Parts: sequence; C-alpha cells; structure tokens
Amino acid sequence: MLTDAHHRIIDYVRLSVTDRCNLRCTYCMPEHMRFVKSSALLTDAEIVTLLETLASAGISKVRITGGEPFLRPGLIPLLASIKAIAGIQQIAITTNGVLTHRYIPDLKALGITHVNLSLDTLQPQRFHQITRRDRFAAVMQTLDSLLAHQLQVKINVVVMDQVNTDELVPFAALTRELPVSVRFIEEMPFNGQGHAFSGINWNYETILDTLRERYTLHKLPDAPHSTALNYSIPGHAGNIGVIPAYSRTFCGTCNRLRISATGSVKTCLYGPDALNARDLMRSGEALLPAIQQALHHRAANGFAAERLHAGTPESMSVIGG
Ligand code: SAM
Ligand code: SF4
Repeated sequence: MLTDAHHRIIDYVRLSVTDRCNLRCTYCMPEHMRFVKSSALLTDAEIVTLLETLASAGISKVRITGGEPFLRPGLIPLLASIKAIAGIQQIAITTNGVLTHRYIPDLKALGITHVNLSLDTLQPQRFHQITRRDRFAAVMQTLDSLLAHQLQVKINVVVMDQVNTDELVPFAALTRELPVSVRFIEEMPFNGQGHAFSGINWNYETILDTLRERYTLHKLPDAPHSTALNYSIPGHAGNIGVIPAYSRTFCGTCNRLRISATGSVKTCLYGPDALNARDLMRSGEALLPAIQQALHHRAANGFAAERLHAGTPESMSVIGG
C-alpha cells in the first residue's frame, strides 16, 4: 500500500501518454509549444512495467491523459495491455474529443466505461478562439457517439473570466436531456505562458452562485476522493459539478500520483517533479522505494506544494491535468 507523509492512501495514478496535442487551448499552452523527442517518452513496455509495479503496491485506478492521448500511436493496444495488469480495476481516459470518435467501439470493447471530454464552449467560433483550432464539429461528433455507446461521460469545462462564463447556464441546460456530468473547473496557472494569469475571478462559489440564480441545486453525495462537488438539478437527466482546482479545498483526501509522458512523477499537481520513473527504469534502479520516499516528502496540500515550486509556469499538457 502506498501512503504519504500525511497518512493518505495513494491508489490512483494519472498517466500522461504523450505531451503532444492537436489543440492549443490558451489556458493550457502557448501557440508554439515545444514537444519532446519521441525517444524521451515512456515506451509501451515501460508504461506497463511502471503500472505493474504501482499495481503491486495498491494502485487500482488509472486515468490516461496527455497531451491528447489519442495522438499516441498504438494507444488501443496499450490500453489492452494496461487492462490486463493484475490489480488495475478501472481505466478512465481524458480526451479533447478531436480524434476520439473512431476509437469509441474499441474503448467499449475494452470495458473502458468512463470518458472525460474537455469542452469549454458550445459555440463553434468561440471554440476556435479558445483552442486556436477549428475542430468543434469533431468534438461534438465524439460526444454524440460516446452517448450512443452508453459510456459514462463527464464534460470538463474550464471556467475563464470574460471568455465563457456566459455559458455556465447553457452547459447546465445541456444536462436536462443528456445523461452527462458537466464539471466546471476553476482555471489553474498551468498555461505554459499561453496567456497571462494572475489568479481567478470565478471560483467554485461564484460559479455555484451563478447557477443558483437559474436552477435549484441539490447536493449529491461525493465519492470518497472526489475533487468535484456534485449537484443534481430537478428534472435533469445529468448533473453538474464544480472542481475547486485553484481554491484547492480537496487536498486532504487526495489519493493520486501524476506521471508525465516522460516519466516525471509528481506527488502534487502544484509541486515540483519528485523523481523520474523512466530514468530509474532505464538505469535498472528500483522504482517503488523511490516512489515511497517521494510520498514521504509529499506536501500537505497544493499551497504548500506550490511554495516548493519556483520557475516558469508549466503547461498542463505536460502535467496531464
Ligand atoms: N488533451 C486532453 C483534454 O484536453 O481532455 C487531456 C489532457 S488535458 C491537459 C486534461 C484536462 O486538463 C482537460 O480537461 C483540460 O481542460 C484541463 N486543463 C488544462 N489546462 C488547465 C488549466 N490551466 N486550468 C484548469 N484545467 C486545465
Ligand atoms: Fe491539448 Fe488538452 Fe491542453 Fe487543450 S487542454 S491544449 S486539448 S492538452
């Protein structure tokens, strides 16, 4: 069992399988993003070894993220290998939906039931403005197909001041007919200098207050390690959630490790890299003791972790979200 310095059990890993992306969301990266060489990425075999090692220490849930995971060649066979690892009980995936549509039957066949789709606007022109790419129709096609295949869909909406706050109610309205969970995420300072960031005007409370002006919200029970505060709206097929990602109210129950596409391990989204699993594997060193040690030095929360982390703002496409 992996535990940290503050008696939190770690049973969830978020693994980035590529740093590359086919969108350029302003809150995530600059237009001209530098990607790493392919040889720097964890290989399929290294990913499997890494996850086998983590599963032997109690990791039971894996979220595949990126960059855009569907840009990694051979993603579906890699997912099948991960699925076969003893102890891995749940695989989830976070995607921007641009290429996802054609792989949905494969996901379904693999028993991958949870897909998080990132979508920050319901307006095609605004989509172009936010992502710097004209791929709205492809993402909507993915949404339709995910629902047609009865996958559990969460739509991640990053709430950006003066960009999409007028769409909180339209997004909540989407849950009237669609059985999706729309989760409004506070913007975090990980844009790799994609745009200036000096804190947020829209936190989870502002978001909820705005939604309450239009809807009655009933609090739903949250799963034990949920980062989202979830609510139902009477008569709606789906539900909504808010994720205080910048306010960091959920650190006390954090059960996750993050591993980048190049093997950097973070014990906190806001903190520095604690070690590099790829380098340890390539030099034949043991992984688990290094990971345990990193967890023993884990900061108590995202504010403490942030104080340990100087330098230029990272891009979320490198961290994996
Ligand atoms: N490309 C995939 C996607 O967009 O779903 C997976 C990787 S992306 C880095 C993972 C999640 O992080 C997405 O839901 C995205 O909206 C979110 N994200 C990226 N940058 C963010 C930021 N600065 N603040 C809050 N969320 C962010
Ligand atoms: Fe790409 Fe996802 Fe970052 Fe947007 S949020 S640029 S889709 S990695």
